[in-house]
This record gives sequence, structure tokens and C-alpha cells, in this order.
Amino acid sequence: MALNKKNVENLQVKGKKVLVRCDFNVPLKDGSITNDNRIVAALPTINKLIENGGKIILCSHLGKPKAPDSKFTLAPVAKRLSELLSKNVVFAADDAVVGDNARKAIDAMSDGDVVLLENTRFRAEEGKNGEAFSKDLASIAEVYVNDAFGSAHRAHCSTAGVTSFMTGETAVGYLMNKEIEFLGNAVENPARPFVAILGGAKVADKLNVISNLLDKCDTLIIGGGMAYTFLKAKGMEVGKSLVDNEKLDYCKEMIAKAEKLGKNLLLPMDTAIASSFPNPIDAEIPAEYVDVTNMPADSLGLDIGPKTCELFANAAKTAKTVVWNGPMGVFENPTLAKGTIAVAQALADTDATTIIGGGDSAAAVVQLGFADEMSHISTGGGASLEYLEGKVLPGIDVIQDR
Ligand code: AMP
Repeated sequence: MALNKKNVENLQVKGKKVLVRCDFNVPLKDGSITNDNRIVAALPTINKLIENGGKIILCSHLGKPKAPDSKFTLAPVAKRLSELLSKNVVFAADDAVVGDNARKAIDAMSDGDVVLLENTRFRAEEGKNGEAFSKDLASIAEVYVNDAFGSAHRAHCSTAGVTSFMTGETAVGYLMNKEIEFLGNAVENPARPFVAILGGAKVADKLNVISNLLDKCDTLIIGGGMAYTFLKAKGMEVGKSLVDNEKLDYCKEMIAKAEKLGKNLLLPMDTAIASSFPNPIDAEIPAEYVDVTNMPADSLGLDIGPKTCELFANAAKTAKTVVWNGPMGVFENPTLAKGTIAVAQALADTDATTIIGGGDSAAAVVQLGFADEMSHISTGGGASLEYLEGKVLPGIDVIQDR
């Protein structure tokens, strides 16, 4: 699906200052970056703007500081980015983000130079989409590019508000475009059969995703913790499994909706059970497998069983498009990771376009070594979920149409 928004590809940026919102919200340990995937994902857009002779001013949030806090400085990102670009990236240390220091660094720029501003959340107005900070950001550039898919579901100054005060062009970057190409095609124009796989902890977190995907897909697979509320809604004993009693009616509604629409709704046939939740989470625990019609009242369902792995894998293998969000079990524990591994393996084996919707499932796919086998792993957990819910993402909505 081509996104009907201006794109970095066709921007005239020679000699112009270009503010680029990236998602540099990387994991840090003792001040060092432990995973630079998000920085690497931003390189195509930055390189294109360098090649076209823009003056590139990068900005991003990092973590959740409420005020300037050296623990959340973007300085390590500037260093890593310099290495990746083989080019000096000037870090504009400035608690006001767009204060005197940043303006000085920007004034000194030549075409093709790159400056990285300090963490946008050092300004408290960022999260409130406040006018003053939006105006400050707009005042330092002539062109705005949003390439921060991971933050596109948030209407903050740097992702949305800034565009109200920009006088020049606004566009999306390559990463944003790629995310929407994959997620948008899957939801709006999928090659069929389209199989959606949902897992993770709670039904309540994914109410709108379940309902929206049921409209769009041919088969909806529900595994993980959320499956037990569905099984209980079907009248089964689920013991001490994670159940959201307030959502039983909702699950019944979804089961009826699937029937009415003629969609396959696949639920677990068997499950791994234990007498208690692993504590610590990776503790060695004995798990046994039972059919879901046979769960003892004092047991806890913590993963899908082997028959379910086969059922889900077969559905994925015959698909042309698969979207997956949420693990099939408590995958942090090796004994209970088997269902999640089986689904990842099935996606690796299929010829379908496979899209992993960020968050825990993306982490699981990477951790389990299947990353290279997927068509697309989204960089935005929350953003991809909201997109799959059918919501408009403000960070994309505010960009000028083509
Ligand atoms: P989410 O953030 O909703 O994608 O949920 C991910 C979490 O769901 C992971 O930490 C899993 O351990 C957890 N989870 C998956 N299956 C179960 C289950 N059967 N019971 C409890 N938690 C689960």
C-alpha cells in the first residue's frame, strides 16, 4: 500500500535545514547502548538527506525523563551514529533542547552536516504537545521529516505539534514508509489467506485489535495468556490460568462475530500446565500437557501444547499473509517457550509475507534467532498495535499529502 504522504525520496533539501524526528529510544546499560537496531533503521533516511545536501538536525526521545536528567542524554547515540555514518555527528548538549547551545551548533552547519539535539523529553511540554516547544522545534528548520514509527501513535511536540508551525514541506522517512507498506498492505490489501496470530498476556490490552483483525483476516489465531479467557467463555475449566472475568462477554461476542463472518477462530486444543507461575520467571519448572477440555482446577495454563503448535503451524503454512503479535506462552521460561518457538518456526518455513508486530513477539523472534526469516519486524510495538486496531496514527496523519 503506497502511503499517500510526502516522502523523503522526493524532497528538495539542498542547503536547507531539515528537522528529522527519529526513534532513538534505544536500550542503555551503564551509559552504553546494548542494541542499536533503531539507530541502524534510521540510516537510510539520514544518508539520503546527507547525499542531497541538507543540513540534518536529528531529534528523538529516550526513556521517560520528566526533566533534564543526564541518565537519559542522547550523547551515546551521537557517538554510535558517528560510527555508523563514518561521519562526525555534532551532539548539541542543551537542557532546553532548542536553547542557545543547540542554535549555535545549527548556525555552524554546512550542507551535509548532521547535528543531534538533546532528548526531547528534557522539555516537559513534549508529552503534552505544548505550543512553545513545538514552535521552538519549527523555528530551527525549513523542512520536517518524521521517521519515528515507534512514536507515531503519540501526538507530541516533536512527532505532531511541530508541523503546525512549519512553513516548509513535511514528509515521512523511509522507515515510516516501510512500516506502513507492510502493515498497511496486510490490513488493507492482504494476499489471502490472511492469518492473524495474537498472543500475550491480556485480552483487555488487545480488544480493538481482536475485533478489527477479525474483520480483515481469514483466520484469527488466539494463543498466550489471553486464550484462557476465550476458553472459559466457551464454558471450559481453565483452573488458575490468567482470566479476565470482565471480558468473558466480549470473548463470547468475538466467537459469535467470527461465526457470523465465516472466519476461522482458532483457540488452543492443548496446553502446558503447572501448579504455579515460575518464580523467578526463568526458574526450572515441571510442565505437563493436557487437552484444554481436561485442565485440573488447581492448574495454570502457561503455553500452548504440541497439538496446538501443529494446528497453528498448519494454518500459518497455508497462509499468504501472516501478522503476529504476542507470544504463545510464558516464553521467558525455556520450558514454556516451545509454543512461541513453534509459531516462529512455522512463520520461518512459510512462503507467506510474515509481519511481526513489534514488542514482545519481535523480541522473541530476534532472541530465538528467526529475525532473518521474517518479511518485516516492526520497530514499534505500541504504534503497530494501534495501527492494527485501525486507528489513525497522529505522527503520520499530520504529514502533508503527496
Ligand atoms: P503482551 O505484553 O501482552 O504481549 O504479553 C507478553 C507477556 O505475556 C509475556 O511476558 C508472557 O510471559 C506473558 N504470557 C504469555 N502467555 C501467558 C500465560 N499463559 N499466562 C500468563 N502470562 C502469559
